[in-house]
Amino acid sequence: MKTVIKNISKLVQNDDNMIKFRAGNDMNHLNTISNAFIEIEDGLITDYGDMDDWKGIDDWNQTKIIDAEEGILFPSYCDSHTHLVYAESRENEFNDRLNGLSYQEIAEKGGGILNSALKIAEINEDLLYEKSLERLNNLILQGTGAIEIKSGYGLNLESELKILRVIKKLKENSPVSIKSTFLGAHALPIDYREKKSEYIDLIINKMLPAIKSENLADYIDVFCEKGYFNVEDTIKILEAGQKIGLKGKTHVNQFNSIGGVKASIENKCISVDHLEIMNEEDFLAFKDSSCIATLLPSCSFFLGIPYSPAKEFIKRNIPFNLASDYNPGSSPSGNMNFVSSLGSIKLKLNAEQVINATTINGAYAMEYENELGTISVGKKANFFITKPIPSYQYLHYSFGENLIDKIFLEGKQIK
Ligand SMILES: [Zn+2]
Repeated sequence: MKTVIKNISKLVQNDDNMIKFRAGNDMNHLNTISNAFIEIEDGLITDYGDMDDWKGIDDWNQTKIIDAEEGILFPSYCDSHTHLVYAESRENEFNDRLNGLSYQEIAEKGGGILNSALKIAEINEDLLYEKSLERLNNLILQGTGAIEIKSGYGLNLESELKILRVIKKLKENSPVSIKSTFLGAHALPIDYREKKSEYIDLIINKMLPAIKSENLADYIDVFCEKGYFNVEDTIKILEAGQKIGLKGKTHVNQFNSIGGVKASIENKCISVDHLEIMNEEDFLAFKDSSCIATLLPSCSFFLGIPYSPAKEFIKRNIPFNLASDYNPGSSPSGNMNFVSSLGSIKLKLNAEQVINATTINGAYAMEYENELGTISVGKKANFFITKPIPSYQYLHYSFGENLIDKIFLEGKQIK
C-alpha cells in the first residue's frame, strides 16, 4: 500500500546527496520545496517533490491519499542524548535548589543521580517499562522520531541491566528508532564512595560482560567531571567498552574543562556531549576528527548554568547537534520544539542552523544519518506535519506552542 501526502505548503530539509551532517557556514543551508507532495511505501520515502511534477496515481486501490492541509513537513527530530528510563521525578530537589542549594550540594546530600539510583533499585522492570513507554509516547507527539537513551541510574549490575532491558523492550515495541547507551560510570554509588577503582572494576569485569551477552547496548558513556570520573578513568572505561564493540559517547565539560574532550576524541568517541565550558585546547581537539559535539541547552536553562558556545562551533566549522538531555534532575523535559527554541533564543542560532542541528546532525550523532534526519528517497518515513503556519521559522519562534498536527513514523500515521 502506497501513501501519498499532498498539499504540503512547504517540505523542509529534503536532500538528494545523502549528506552526513552540516557544519560551519553550511549550517545556513536548508533545502525546501513549496507546494509539495511526498510518497511513502513499506515504511520508506519513495518520492517527493513539487505538486506540479507529481505523476499521479497508478493504482487507486493500492494508494491512500492524505491531505496535509497546507501544513509544513519537517523530518522528525533526532534527539541524541536522553536518560528517559527513570523511576521517579525529582521535583523535591528542584525545590531544594529554589531554596538555595547548588546541584553539587544536592548531590552531596544523597540527592541527584544517587536518589534516582535508589528508586531504580525499588521499581520492578515491568512498571519501569510502562512509565518509560508513556514518556516516549509523549515525546513522539512532540515530534521526536529517533532517540538515544542511556542507563546510569542503576549503578549496580542488577539495576543497570534492568534499565538496559527496558530500553531494549522499547526498541522492540516502539516505532521510534532507538539507540541504547550504557552509562554505568554516571556517578559513584554510595557503597563505593571511597573505592572508585573497585567500582570501575565492577563496570569492566561484571557489567560489560553481562551487557555483551544480552546485546543490551550500542554505546558506552562516562561522566568525565571533577568529583565523578577523571580523564584516566574515562579512557579506561572507554577502552573496555570498545573491546566489546561499544563506541564511546561522553559527558564532558559540563562544569569544568579537565581534558575529557581531547581524551574522548582520541578514543574515537562518536560524540562528546554537554560542552558548556570550552577552552582553546578543547576546540582544537576536534581537528581532523569525525566526532560531533552534542549541546544540551535545556539543561543549561533548567540549572541556570552557562550555555554552550554554539556560534563558536560554527565559526570553527565543528559539527554539533542539539539534544534534550531529558532526565529527572537537570532537564525534566524532552520536548525538542523547546530545545529548538532555546537554540535560537539562547544559543543565537538561526532557524536553518537549528533545523540542521536537530535533524541530520542529531541523526549523525546516533549513526542514523543514512536512515533518518532528512527527507530523502530510501530513508525511513519519519516526519511530522504542522498546522498551517506562516513559515518554517515560525515553529521555533512560537515557543511553548504545540504546532504539530500529523505524525508519521516508519510510514505509519501515529497522529
Ligand atoms: Zn546526560
